[in-house]
Amino acid sequence: MNCKFCNHKDCNIIKDIISPHNLLKYCLYACERCGSFFFDKEQHPVSLDLLYYDLSQTRGEFPEEFVPSRSWQKQVQTIKKLFGGNPSSVLDMGCRTGDFLMHFDKSTECEGIELSKHFAGIAEKRGIKVHDDFLEKIEFTQSYDVVTLFAVMEHLESSLDFLNKLNTLVKEGGILVIMIPTHQSFKRKWLDFTGKTWHMYSPPEHLNFYSRQFLDKYLSEKGFNLVHRFYTSGGMVTPFPQIKLLNIILKKLVNLFDHSWFNRFPVFDHMYSYYQLESSNNQVEF
Ligand SMILES: [Zn+2]
Repeated sequence: MNCKFCNHKDCNIIKDIISPHNLLKYCLYACERCGSFFFDKEQHPVSLDLLYYDLSQTRGEFPEEFVPSRSWQKQVQTIKKLFGGNPSSVLDMGCRTGDFLMHFDKSTECEGIELSKHFAGIAEKRGIKVHDDFLEKIEFTQSYDVVTLFAVMEHLESSLDFLNKLNTLVKEGGILVIMIPTHQSFKRKWLDFTGKTWHMYSPPEHLNFYSRQFLDKYLSEKGFNLVHRFYTSGGMVTPFPQIKLLNIILKKLVNLFDHSWFNRFPVFDHMYSYYQLESSNNQVEF
């Protein structure tokens, strides 16, 4: 199998993973050249439209009422700091109900992309312009100060075609934020070591696990410079679900870790990368 990212020949199968969605067995490939992992969606052809329709029906209720969140506030502060002020336009790909976009100032023009009609409807009611189609199919007519992709890239079928478009979507000096699950985290390696399956291995929903080296190099060839990176748990740490008190204490400790200086080390699996298009490449200190 050729690497779907760098086209290296003869990628090895390192594991078989049973899909939690359709219970079929998928081969997990690893590329020794670019360090990425991936699944081949064509191993069991299924309709992603149907899969995402089903998932949007089963993944809980999202309230219509907007409630500010501390983590999104922090995210917006980070973006403003890196951008050097208040952005005039933001595009959030996979915006759900628009919760993240709602944390920007009223003067910021906010747009989102969301496949679920239900979520898109809520975001539109909140005054956000929403495109409800697959990212690859949308013809964009403008560029933005900030483009964000939180938990999107791992889902895409033709992710490189999409990456190729990003430098036309972000304005010069603008910020691109990508959050992906990283297989290079200690958490994933520890789960493998103890014989457990990392929950992010969920084909055909999650297909791509880019190495940070590949992502940085690929985007740098498109003019994006890495300006900031950190790792968090995404709040997804429940090693002892039966022992409530222990779980509460652990969650608090992990939350502290997520927001401390230590988050620059890949202990947990949510990797946040911030790139600036044609920037002066000055790293902002946090
Ligand atoms: Zn590769």
